[in-house]
Amino acid sequence: MSGPRIVIVGGGLAAVRTAQSVRDLGHRGEVRILSAETEPPYDRPPLSKEYLLDALPDNAIRLLGPSDYRALGIELELGQPVIALDTVAHTVTVAGGPVVPYDRLVIATGAQARPLDVVTGRAAAFALRTAADARRLAAVLRDGRRIAVIGGGFIGLEVAATARARGCAVTVIEAQPAPLLGTVGPLVADWLQARHRAHGVEFRCGVTVAAAGAAPDGGERLRLSDGSVLDADAVVVGVGVVRDVGWLAEAGLEVADGLVCDLAGRTDAPDVFGAGDVVCHRTEHGLVPVGHWTAAGNSARRAAHTLLGLPAPNLLDDGFFWSDQLGLRLQFAGRADAGSEFVVVAGDMATDSFVGHFLAEGRVSGVFAVNNPRQFLRSRKELRAAHESTTVREVLR
Ligand SMILES: Cc1cc2nc3c(=O)[nH]c(=O)nc-3n(C[C@H](O)[C@H](O)[C@H](O)COP(=O)(O)OP(=O)(O)OC[C@H]3O[C@@H](n4cnc5c(N)ncnc54)[C@H](O)[C@@H]3O)c2cc1C
Repeated sequence: MSGPRIVIVGGGLAAVRTAQSVRDLGHRGEVRILSAETEPPYDRPPLSKEYLLDALPDNAIRLLGPSDYRALGIELELGQPVIALDTVAHTVTVAGGPVVPYDRLVIATGAQARPLDVVTGRAAAFALRTAADARRLAAVLRDGRRIAVIGGGFIGLEVAATARARGCAVTVIEAQPAPLLGTVGPLVADWLQARHRAHGVEFRCGVTVAAAGAAPDGGERLRLSDGSVLDADAVVVGVGVVRDVGWLAEAGLEVADGLVCDLAGRTDAPDVFGAGDVVCHRTEHGLVPVGHWTAAGNSARRAAHTLLGLPAPNLLDDGFFWSDQLGLRLQFAGRADAGSEFVVVAGDMATDSFVGHFLAEGRVSGVFAVNNPRQFLRSRKELRAAHESTTVREVLR
């Protein structure tokens, strides 16, 4: 083996993609992944979809099989939560375990589900970030169970759709007047809410959960901010994420909402890089967090190039993500700026197959599609062409 010893802290998509990328780029030295989880890296998107539906076996969500790690010469070390980084000594410390030296370090510790104090510690409260979370939740999604989902974001809505498909009675509690309002604007948010309602999902919008306690029948009783109560057998919290940077408290790296990196993946410490959801990119527009599957993979590929001294590929992140719910494939890129108008350019919202542009001052800022991947691709390409920023290119060179 030759070349720098690469240590990757994390055990998700970004960790695995970084390891694969450095091998693709011809790196022959040591590559170690130190993951806090005790199961091999898996893909998270199915956790709120097919896996939660109990329609996928464990091996179908694995990012790589055991023989892939062997073939690529990647040392995957599970159950190794890293608790400290010494950027001067070039070491990381595993809890109760060894001090591991590195020549290049990649921080890919992702994020955790944001806790909601009012239900934290309640026996029937569930988060959804890990495969273990999904298995626990799947065990309670049974016919006739009452499920309260706090938070009408993508994960909350996917859980709602899956729970309905499993015969549960589902109520989504959303602080905003409609689910996903800030992400997709009022027209699309209303359309999506109507689709969910048509599938039997109930909504309590414009309210928050003020208190939680035991319901007389043994479930949870949620008291909402408008004074009403909602009883549920299980409460699923989907109110965003907290980037996993706590272990870096003493490392002296710049940490904001996440680990601050330039677009090529460099932190402000030599030989330390960031990839995936843990990262907030420093850009001319301020800090931009990584937060979706495609962006996490892209940032891993860029970090892999950079740490090997190669120019990072110009993979422009356009905020793309997809979501599958109620049998619909939703795709989004760009932004729905406040005040922008949603204009359907193909299909028809009434038929559940359409593509629309978010328009502000005659300029397209974002694209949203339902069950129309071809037209989405065309619109997305146009969006990217219109927004390709020379500044971003410069940072990546
Ligand atoms: C339920 C769910 C559904 C999703 N669906 C979609 C979707 O449909 N479309 C989409 O675009 N995106 C989706 N996403 C988002 C996507 O999965 C994430 O963007 C992606 O998983 C980020 O990968 P990551 O490796 O950066 O972080 P993570 O997946 O969070 O992985 C981080 C890993 O690091 C480990 N770790 C943390 N701290 C330490 C430490 N100190 N030491 C060692 N290891 C540590 C963690 O245990 C974890 O294994 C979904 C996410 C979830 C949770």
